[in-house]
Amino acid sequence: MSDCLFCKFVSEELETEKVYEDEHVLGFKDIYPQAKEHYLFIAKEHTKNINELVTQNPEDIARVYSAISQFTREKGLDQSGFRVVTNLGKYGGQTIFHTHFHVLGGEQLSSFGS
Ligand code: 5GP
Ligand code: ZN
Repeated sequence: MSDCLFCKFVSEELETEKVYEDEHVLGFKDIYPQAKEHYLFIAKEHTKNINELVTQNPEDIARVYSAISQFTREKGLDQSGFRVVTNLGKYGGQTIFHTHFHVLGGEQLSSFGS
C-alpha cells in the first residue's frame, strides 16, 4: 500500500532497524519502546488488522509466529519470557493500520488485571 509506513519499511523506501527478515516476514525495533526490548513483526503483504489477516492471508499467521519463535529463541528471550500483542481499532489502541505484532520483553511486564 503506497501510503502505509510499514509497507515503506518492507520496500525499503524508508529505513528502519531490522532485526529479522525472510521472504514473507519483517521484524524491526519499535521507535518508542514500551519495554526494554520492543520489536514489531509484520507480514510483508499488507493487511490492515488481525481480522483482515486471518481472512485474506491466514498462512501469514504461522509465518509471523514462526519468525517470532525463531527470533526470540535466538535472542534468548524465551528463557526470561516475553509477550506478543496485536491491537485492533480505536479501543484496541491501533495507530498503524498494517497488521503488526508487538514483541515485548527484557524486563518484568505488568500482569493483566492487577
Ligand atoms: P499500534 O499502536 O498501532 O499497536 O502500534 C504502532 C507502533 O508503531 C507503536 O508502538 C509505535 O511506537 C510504532 N511506530 C510508530 N512509528 C514508527 C516508526 O516510524 N518506526 C518504528 N520502528 N516504529 C514506529
Ligand atoms: Zn502496509
